[in-house]
Amino acid sequence: MEKITDHVYLVRIPIPYDFREVNCYLIEGKNGFTVVDTGDCTEEAMAVWVKTLGTSIPIEKVVITHAHADHFGLAGWFQQNYQASVWMSVKGYEELQRARSLFVDQKYRSSLGSFIEQHGMVVQTGQEDRFHRFEAYQFKPDVLFQENQELLLGDSIYQTIPTPGHSPDHVAFYQAQDQLLLVGDHILQGINPIVISEKEGDNPLQGYLSALKRLREIKVKYTLPGHGQQIVDLDARIEKLLGHYEKRWAQTLQGIQEKGSTAFEVSQFVYGSNLSHERASSALIQTITNLVYLESLGHVKMEKDHHDGLYYFFKKAVNSY
Ligand SMILES: [Zn+2]
Repeated sequence: MEKITDHVYLVRIPIPYDFREVNCYLIEGKNGFTVVDTGDCTEEAMAVWVKTLGTSIPIEKVVITHAHADHFGLAGWFQQNYQASVWMSVKGYEELQRARSLFVDQKYRSSLGSFIEQHGMVVQTGQEDRFHRFEAYQFKPDVLFQENQELLLGDSIYQTIPTPGHSPDHVAFYQAQDQLLLVGDHILQGINPIVISEKEGDNPLQGYLSALKRLREIKVKYTLPGHGQQIVDLDARIEKLLGHYEKRWAQTLQGIQEKGSTAFEVSQFVYGSNLSHERASSALIQTITNLVYLESLGHVKMEKDHHDGLYYFFKKAVNSY
């Protein structure tokens, strides 16, 4: 447990993939501690929590930044073992239920898989299971909150700021007095968070960029992300991310051939073709996100080819974002 302010602590919980660790936070209050994000539902994660909390630290509630299993996976476990109440956003619970029902029907893989395949990548089976430990989804939140609502976490008021993009339900928690922002996976220090498209019609980058710009308007001293190191200078990090996107869009447009290209072809142009299946899928999803955004700005056009069933992107002659 690492102390960040007088009342806020960081606990790094191991996860068996991607970033290797998720940053969970403990906010101390007179009725016990509030846990912000839990880690995924693994024996290893539970063991770290048990060791960290011992028998003497009471847990009052658990709040969740977004409905990805590495962030909510132990919510049910906290309800059962610590009698904590679990707080989640209305949208977050909708996302959780959607994922749960797809999971129960075993459709999650096929719906995401066919989305990816229509964009030109051949999906290898048996790859997606790690995201979906069934037990992680088996809980019902005790309290649902809205976006732009004030919540009492510990003894302080936090505002929920909608920060969609990495997931549609993503929220950040902001505490004005200490200028502290729990930013989840919306912004990370050394890495550009993936902005996820999951189905036709999604244009998540629009909301993601507006939320980034909105965060420039608040005063922040501590920016605490869901993975990796604390963000030292939020404004600088936001500027860097915005600049990164400008470059990516130029590269993305460059990767589209005259005869049209699939998103997978463009993603191989941008990210290279020597990636593991998992990384190649993430690269493809980010590329689809960029292409759909560029389409909404009128720079590209997407068309379905009725012979092979794939989507192709074509460049249109417009030269500014
Ligand atoms: Zn995460």
